[in-house]
Formats: sequence, C-alpha cells, structure tokens
Amino acid sequence: MSVFNRLLTASLPLVPKAIVGRVASRYVAGETLDQALAVVRKLNAQGAMATLDLLGEEVKERPPALAAVEEYLRLFAALEREKLDSNVSIKLTLLGLKIDEGFCRDNVDRIAAAAKAHGNFVRIDMEDSSCTDATLRIYREMQERHGNLGVVLQAYMRRTLADLDTLPRESPSVRICKGIYVEPREIAWKGYETVRANYLHALEKMIARGIYAAIATHDEYLACTAAAMVEKHGLPRDRYEFQMLLGVDEQLRRILLAAGHRLRVYVPYGRDWYPYSIRRLRENPEVARHVLRAMLKRG
Ligand SMILES: Cc1cc2nc3c(=O)[nH]c(=O)nc-3n(C[C@H](O)[C@H](O)[C@H](O)COP(=O)(O)OP(=O)(O)OC[C@H]3O[C@@H](n4cnc5c(N)ncnc54)[C@H](O)[C@@H]3O)c2cc1C
Repeated sequence: MSVFNRLLTASLPLVPKAIVGRVASRYVAGETLDQALAVVRKLNAQGAMATLDLLGEEVKERPPALAAVEEYLRLFAALEREKLDSNVSIKLTLLGLKIDEGFCRDNVDRIAAAAKAHGNFVRIDMEDSSCTDATLRIYREMQERHGNLGVVLQAYMRRTLADLDTLPRESPSVRICKGIYVEPREIAWKGYETVRANYLHALEKMIARGIYAAIATHDEYLACTAAAMVEKHGLPRDRYEFQMLLGVDEQLRRILLAAGHRLRVYVPYGRDWYPYSIRRLRENPEVARHVLRAMLKRG
C-alpha cells in the first residue's frame, strides 16, 4: 500500500460519514431486507451462493440484540419462501456477547433452531481476540445441540492450529480467513507471508481432518494454492467452498466459478453499516483514489 493510501487509511475516522457511505456502498447490499434479498437473487442467477449478515456489533443493551434475532427469523422465512440459495452469518457481539454470555447463547439457540426448521445453516463470524474463547464455546454447544452451525478461524491467530483440535466431532465446518482485527504480536502472526503460510497450514489440517472448508480470501495466491490442494486431496465439490466479500474482486469470483468451484458471497446489510465499511475501506489498496473522487464529486 502506498504511503498516501496508508495516511488516508489512518485518517478514515475523520472522513465525513456521507463520503464513507458513498465509497463503501459497493460492500453493503443496502439497509433493508428486501435490498439484501435482491442482491442474493442476482448472485444466485450468476451461479454464486450467499451468506447474509445483518450489520451491527458490540451492542450494550438487550433490545437491539433481541431485534437482531427477530430479523434473522424473518430472514430464514424469506429465504425459504423465495427459494434463495443463502445461509446466514452472525456476529456474537450483536447478539449480546458483551452483555452476558448466557443471554447471547440463548439468542444463538433461537436463531439456530429457526435455521433448522427452515433447512438452513448459521455461520458464526469470528470477532476480535476478546471473543475467541466464548465464540468457540458457544459454537461447540450449539453445534452439538442443532448440528447446523459453522465457525470462523483466523490465520493470523497463533492459536488457530490448536483450535482446530477442539471442534465438535459432528460435521465441523470452518471458514478460514486471514483475520481483520488489529491484534498484538503476543498472540498473532504479523508478517504477510507468515499469515499466508499459517492459512495454508490450517487449510491442510482441515482437509486432513475431514472438516468442511470454507476458503475465504481474495488473495489470488491463496485461492490458487487452495484450489491445487483441493485437487491433490481429491476433495469432493460438496466438501468445500470458496467465499468472498460483496464488492471485492468480482473477476476472481468469476474465475473460481468458471473453474467449477462452489463460491459463496458474504452479503452484509442493515442500517449499522459504518464500522464494517471502515474495515473494508482499510483493506482496499485504492482507498485514497476512491475517497478523493467522492470528495471532489461532492464539491
Ligand atoms: C467471506 C469472508 C468472510 C470473512 N469473515 C471474517 C470473520 O469472521 N472474521 C475476520 O476476522 N475476518 C473475516 N474476513 C476478512 C478476512 O479476515 C480478511 O481481512 C480479508 O478477507 C482480506 O484478506 P484476503 O485473504 O482477501 O487477503 P488480502 O491480502 O487482504 O487481499 C488480497 C487482495 O484482495 C483485494 N482486496 C481485499 N480486500 C479488499 C477490499 N476491501 N476492497 C478492495 N480490494 C480488496 C486486494 O487487491 C488485495 O490485494 C472475511 C473475509 C471473507 C472473504
């Protein structure tokens, strides 16, 4: 990333929210359920699956967490009614993890039960390291009870290879990603190539253990190496999938689909789009150009 991009990335919190919203709109399906469903319909028509994420995190009161549960229940009904190929992703801090772990577990329980009733699946996103232990605990307990959940592990976390040994025996499913939060070196690998190496170690271990692999990346090197690994192990098409974020590298998405892989797009929607958008913009190597263009258009 250029020095200018790095400077702009550091000062993103100072950029007016309206500008952030305009530049980041490619990463978010919209504010409403209908807008999100329209995006899923389009992705399905292109041969891609989806995972819908209701935006929001770090709630400090119970009502927004309970409202999020209700929204997920509406979502399952709508997906079934419209015969759309999409599961859901959830963030535990939106469901009250920082208020009370038991309250959060009850909310996940309701979501997983509803997902099961509608023949659907729930992926628990992984947030910063203050959530890792509780996220894995809740995942293990809910997977043992309902059998239709998966979790996420981050390749930058040094504990990830060991965490793979603690998954439930029944149909474990892991989305492996590099990891997006800023973690201290005491617990996280820092080098770009080191994180890539750990990603591939984790994927290799997942395949060897029969863990369903959701390979989440836009890194062409990782996608290429993962595809070769899948072929080397003769992994059937229904035992893995690639995953990418809405609005990122649609060309790579088409390349992977054309090669015959299953691919799922992460589709966030909702009114609380700001923190997610900032994280995405920080990863965009062309953030400065986009922000400047939006600012000039504004003037
Ligand atoms: C489906 C999915 C789910 C995820 N879930 C989680 C999660 O639960 N927890 C978590 O910590 N992280 C999650 N992440 C984020 C992930 O950890 C990485 O931060 C992110 O995917 C970037 O890593 P990368 O593998 O794409 O490699 P990078 O090296 O970051 O990116 C590779 C290339 O992709 C392009 N690119 C990447 N991001 C952008 C962007 N925003 N805009 C434009 N171009 C871009 C660039 O060209 C870049 O050079 C998820 C990612 C995906 C794809």
